[in-house]
Amino acid sequence: MRVRVLGTAAGGGVPQWNCACHGCAAARAHPSWRRLHASIAIEASPGRWYVVNATPDIAEQIEANPDLHPGPERRRTPVAGVVLTDAELDHTLGLPRLREARDLRVVATGTVRDALARGLRMDRVLAPYTSLTWSDLPEDEPVPLDGAGGVAIRAVRVSGKRPRYAADLDLPDGAWSVALHVTDRRSGASLVYAPALAGWPSGLGRALSAADCVIVDGTFWDDDEPRRSGFTDRTATAMGHLPISGPGGTAARLAALPAARRLYTHLNNTNPLVDPGHDGHRTLAGMGIEVASEGQVIDL
Ligand SMILES: [Zn+2]
Repeated sequence: MRVRVLGTAAGGGVPQWNCACHGCAAARAHPSWRRLHASIAIEASPGRWYVVNATPDIAEQIEANPDLHPGPERRRTPVAGVVLTDAELDHTLGLPRLREARDLRVVATGTVRDALARGLRMDRVLAPYTSLTWSDLPEDEPVPLDGAGGVAIRAVRVSGKRPRYAADLDLPDGAWSVALHVTDRRSGASLVYAPALAGWPSGLGRALSAADCVIVDGTFWDDDEPRRSGFTDRTATAMGHLPISGPGGTAARLAALPAARRLYTHLNNTNPLVDPGHDGHRTLAGMGIEVASEGQVIDL
């Protein structure tokens, strides 16, 4: 199973259009600091890829990765569909950018589908352009992506955190945010992709312990970072993102996993790790942890 990292930033990307913080200003000056919104692509069967989360950068992400380019026929694309881990704007606004597709397969939990239909009117808005073909992503049940015997994904509930636009929607509490446990049934290798970790529920812990590679939420370096940066008075944890370092940080938990590869993604523009030279990279490397980079290929 081949996985490509398409983007590694939290909402807004790095740089964020209206921000002149240290990280964003440096990203304008130094291309190596720039990060697109967090996303990966999974090759479900030879030449057929599923993009996990449709970010506002999705068209640029497809262009930046030749495996995802169309051809040889004019309108033939290796992008077989999109899998959503949640209904956040940064993970779904890319769907309208794919409206040139004749049809588009979207795999998501019922909760996420309902939020997009009722909160964003996504089906209705896109109906004149393309047809969204929804595939259900039930919790804790492997779903073959491209036929039995190949790659299967399993949704593991991470939290009931709703997008802000869905706060008042009359929808039940449910699988608002899931991690994906991706298994290649041919090799037995597996990956857990969890770009938003509001907590560490036992089901997630089991999936992480069984995976050969984990790519998880690295939005904030420490819990006080959002407050210190001055853009909010909430902590990282209160914003729905367990921090990397400090008490309760995820780095120590990742280091204890048996996985051969452990990576952070979804970095906020305030995270000191957006600086490629920051000491935190060496600290994490010493714990066997990497920060994912765009274009990175992971073969499992
Ligand atoms: Zn910034």
